[in-house]
Amino acid sequence: MSAPLFDRLALIGIGLIGSSIARAAREHGLARTIVAATRRAETAEEARRLGIVDGVGTDVAEAVREADFVVLCTPVGANAEAMKQAAPHLKKGAIVSDVGSVKQAVIRDAGPLFPEGVHFVPAHPVVGTEHSGPAAGFAELFRGRWCIVTPIPGSDRAAVEKVIEFWRRCGSDMEEMSADHHDKVLAITSHLPHLIAYTIVGTATDLEDHIKAEVVKFAAGGFRDFTRIAASDPTMWRDVFLNNREAVLEMLGRFSEDISALQRAIRWGEGDKLFELFERTRAIRRALIDARQA
Ligand code: NAP
Repeated sequence: MSAPLFDRLALIGIGLIGSSIARAAREHGLARTIVAATRRAETAEEARRLGIVDGVGTDVAEAVREADFVVLCTPVGANAEAMKQAAPHLKKGAIVSDVGSVKQAVIRDAGPLFPEGVHFVPAHPVVGTEHSGPAAGFAELFRGRWCIVTPIPGSDRAAVEKVIEFWRRCGSDMEEMSADHHDKVLAITSHLPHLIAYTIVGTATDLEDHIKAEVVKFAAGGFRDFTRIAASDPTMWRDVFLNNREAVLEMLGRFSEDISALQRAIRWGEGDKLFELFERTRAIRRALIDARQA
């Protein structure tokens, strides 16, 4: 095992992502000490019982004091408040990162709160399950998955490289891009699919009772896959849509146009149009399998 990258890693938020980072950092010896702060005492108690960190409580100031690496693992809408609590207690030279699924809003809201001499390197591990909380995490969550860093103009290069190295050692494949580009890419690859899943499952629950019962019975026909995505954490996803509004609305606009075109093709019996699209989308699935992302 290589030497630890950091002396003290402080995680603010110890749910699915925070606890997975704690487990991976411990497994790969990435920090000498790993501590966490969370909002509720019950969550702190659960993390303590799981034994995944060296110390955990509800006091952000206490967690970040003397930390040389701090990672915000709270919902996107809660990052700025967490940062406000952490800022006066951050050590000079500390690196702060986050894992938020949206990048521009986090930079906009948390960025100005950073004290002089503290380096902010936003990041997003493109992983996930529909589960939440400290018990849901696991060390292998990041293995073979992308992690995107979105350095802000003028970011300290050594700090960026250190964050990249941290994620590499957690098993991630690394990519660097602007926050703006990140938000557009994720709007179509992650945010819109979640919105569609929430809508389909919502529509099904509004059906008359006799059909609703059959939906559960025959869910394997495709519906089941949507229910998994639509079971994702409500707080996290509310914050994603509110904080990536522009990009999501842009992709949703395009999607609405395309679905109207399909609606028309079905109405007018234009089988060729349907067939041509389905053939194209099947090729995309094959490309994903080849890229080992399926
Ligand atoms: P999670 O399992 O629900 O954990 C959230 C953590 O944040 C908990 O420790 C929770 O504390 C704390 N928290 C929640 N609301 C808070 C608030 N208002 N103020 C302060 N702390 C609060 O969530 P997660 O899935 O780990 O997601 C965390 C972050 O990772 C989000 O920014 C999300 O965008 C990003 N992310 C998620 C996924 C995914 O698939 N889940 C993937 C990539 C990135 P208590 O439990 O003590 O209330």
